[in-house]
Amino acid sequence: MLVGYQCEECEEAVWLATTRTELTWLRNRRHIVREVLKHVSAGLDSWIMDGIEFLDRHEGHSTVIVSRSAS
Ligand SMILES: [Zn+2]
Repeated sequence: MLVGYQCEECEEAVWLATTRTELTWLRNRRHIVREVLKHVSAGLDSWIMDGIEFLDRHEGHSTVIVSRSAS
């Protein structure tokens, strides 16, 4: 199963190597994760970096968590 975020306004999606639960967690705690990033020079897992980048780029848009079969 692939999961990711989709912007309903731009119809753009990003697929991330994680779970739906973690995507929900990240979206709800984005401001906390961004604070942590200021203090972690090596960065966090790539799905977190890519997810934050996507959410920042679509700030103010309506984003949803999407999933699809990997096959
Ligand atoms: Zn958008």
